[in-house]
Amino acid sequence: MEDTFRHQGLRKRLVETLREKGITDEAVLAAIATIPRHYFLDKAFEEHAYEDKAFPIDENQTISQPYTVAFQTQLLQIKKRQKVLEIGTGSGYQSAILATLGARVYTVERHEWLHQQSNELFKKLHLLGIRSYFGDGHNGLGEFAPFDKIIVTAGAAAVPPALKKQLKIGGVLIIPTGEGVQTMLQITRITATTYESKEMGSFRFVPLLKGKNKK
Ligand code: SAH
Repeated sequence: MEDTFRHQGLRKRLVETLREKGITDEAVLAAIATIPRHYFLDKAFEEHAYEDKAFPIDENQTISQPYTVAFQTQLLQIKKRQKVLEIGTGSGYQSAILATLGARVYTVERHEWLHQQSNELFKKLHLLGIRSYFGDGHNGLGEFAPFDKIIVTAGAAAVPPALKKQLKIGGVLIIPTGEGVQTMLQITRITATTYESKEMGSFRFVPLLKGKNKK
């Protein structure tokens, strides 16, 4: 795999598109300019890697649209060294963006095949800040909690209680909820028992499913 000047040029244009669509966080835009998205796609879609679109990956899943990745990441307000839990590793692209922002990333995927593929890519790209796990993200990752930030990249019927519990006080959870079209929620843990929830627009994700899927 190669990251050519042409790829880099296409990424710059993608960043300009995201700017025009309202993404303002310079650190997020710089991360998108850094990570070669074409590494995270099937060869068949390589030509399209820098279009602002979601594409199919294995197991009937999708790599999120760059705008959605940028939007969710911007809402997270990542600071260096923060512990971030991601539910739905998929291609691994969102994890790579979080790691580029200096987060210590813990990512969970329910498809063993996708988990293995993305994990190999992280090693190949020397993305050392990412630890990936095979499991059902509804449970979070209790052994590494609490987290500064949690991001869910699949549409949830309801907010899984374990994820709210595994948030630090002052921590933020970004999760799309609802069936068909999802409402993006930005949930902040105010105290041990209180949370504040804000609606941040409508998006369309593949569903957050129960259980795990072995190869
Ligand atoms: N962040 C990914 C988006 C992938 S799509 C990327 O950048 O490519 C959402 C992913 O969530 C899919 O891979 C799907 O298998 C996974 N997923 C769905 N339900 C899950 C669950 N309960 N636990 C963990 N992963 C889940």
